[in-house]
Amino acid sequence: MKSLSCRDIGFDCNYTVRAENDCELFAKGERHVFNAHGLREEEFTPKFNEKIKFEDQ
Ligand SMILES: [Zn+2]
Repeated sequence: MKSLSCRDIGFDCNYTVRAENDCELFAKGERHVFNAHGLREEEFTPKFNEKIKFEDQ
């Protein structure tokens, strides 16, 4: 199980994503930031990808 908090990617937000793998983590995180923070894909994707890679180590 992997998890990533919204705060970790720079938002003042208590939401935490939990998922079985990176793919699911990304999908869930993406949905949240688009809906809750009104982010666009091009603003969100590089930052989030970077964070996932970092958390993986
Ligand atoms: Zn959030």
